[in-house]
Amino acid sequence: MHIIIIGSGIAGVSFAEKYRSFSAVDQITLITRENDGYYSRPLLSRGFSKNDIEQFIILKTFDKLRASGINIISGVEIKAINSSDKTVAINGSSREKSLQYDKLVLATGSSAFIPPPFRPYKDLFFCLNSLVDLKALRKFRLGITNQNRQPDWAIIGGGLIGCEVASDLAFSGDKVTLFHAMDRLMERQLVAEDSALLLEVLQNSGVKVLLNQDVKGFAKRKEKVCVKNGVTTEFDALIVSCGFKPRTELAELAGLEIGRGIKVNQYMQTSDESIYALGDVAELPNAKLYAFILPIRSQAHWLAGFIAGKEHDGWIPPVFTTKAKVHGFEAVHPYIV
Ligand SMILES: Cc1cc2nc3c(=O)[nH]c(=O)nc-3n(C[C@H](O)[C@H](O)[C@H](O)COP(=O)(O)OP(=O)(O)OC[C@H]3O[C@@H](n4cnc5c(N)ncnc54)[C@H](O)[C@@H]3O)c2cc1C
Repeated sequence: MHIIIIGSGIAGVSFAEKYRSFSAVDQITLITRENDGYYSRPLLSRGFSKNDIEQFIILKTFDKLRASGINIISGVEIKAINSSDKTVAINGSSREKSLQYDKLVLATGSSAFIPPPFRPYKDLFFCLNSLVDLKALRKFRLGITNQNRQPDWAIIGGGLIGCEVASDLAFSGDKVTLFHAMDRLMERQLVAEDSALLLEVLQNSGVKVLLNQDVKGFAKRKEKVCVKNGVTTEFDALIVSCGFKPRTELAELAGLEIGRGIKVNQYMQTSDESIYALGDVAELPNAKLYAFILPIRSQAHWLAGFIAGKEHDGWIPPVFTTKAKVHGFEAVHPYIV
């Protein structure tokens, strides 16, 4: 049997490694557009306070995964899935070919969600969703710190990632203003009392937090970028951090059933029985996306067992919690997940 996996995040890699532990003979091919290896996405939001992050963040090199019997094709993008002849079309810089699968696992993850009003300004802001994003941000920051000054950032969005990034930049000595649309921070994950505590911790670390903000757009003014929210304020750079969007485009093109994510049944199977979806991109029958490390690893291990014939009942989400990586903040109450 040949299993093809698209994506080298925790979903794709955990599945590949677990399946290899069950089967020494089946062919496993993992295809990814990444070049840097398998890295920890949660560590992205500590990407400014750790100097050696570009090495430290790599959990496994692709060569190490190859050595464990997983065929990795990196630096290429899957452009199409042809479910009738069970092939995927690979499009890299120097090659274009198709590969045949018996089973296909979509572990394509998520990109940063950009609210529609911000889309016309996409050249004016950064996001922090991948190692490529982090490298671009670090390069920009270095350009400013090399002039012996600390950058002045605007973070748009006071959810989990926005708060973490604001915290890490302030911790690293930068000037940070956080714009949040709601009347309290991380309102989806924290009870009001913890939001208030988080606000205090961020303010004490030097972050200027602006709540109830209606950011309408951005503008370029010489070397600076501006946030327009009734008044216009200048910054060195902006980071838009307004949530995530499952990468469903390939599945949609292939005619698979899509909701917020790729719809799967309790066996992680899409509307095509040879194609599975895992991780940030998968939407379970309860309409939930389990976009956190612990349940994703659980899904991946479960699916490996299922395809290997070791699991028979459907995947059951584990009990899990999450934690904001904000310097100096500990929530008093459990997080809402
Ligand atoms: C800044 C940040 C901090 C976070 N902190 C935490 C935390 O503290 N705790 C926690 O539990 N979760 C955290 N998360 C969420 C967690 O990291 C994600 O839920 C998880 O990494 C998703 O894994 P995944 O494998 O589904 O997708 P991804 O990690 O997104 O991997 C998808 C892979 O597929 C590749 N790909 C996509 N489309 C194609 C294609 N067409 N062809 C080839 N390759 C393709 C991508 O390049 C990528 O390598 C954080 C996320 C971010 C961004």
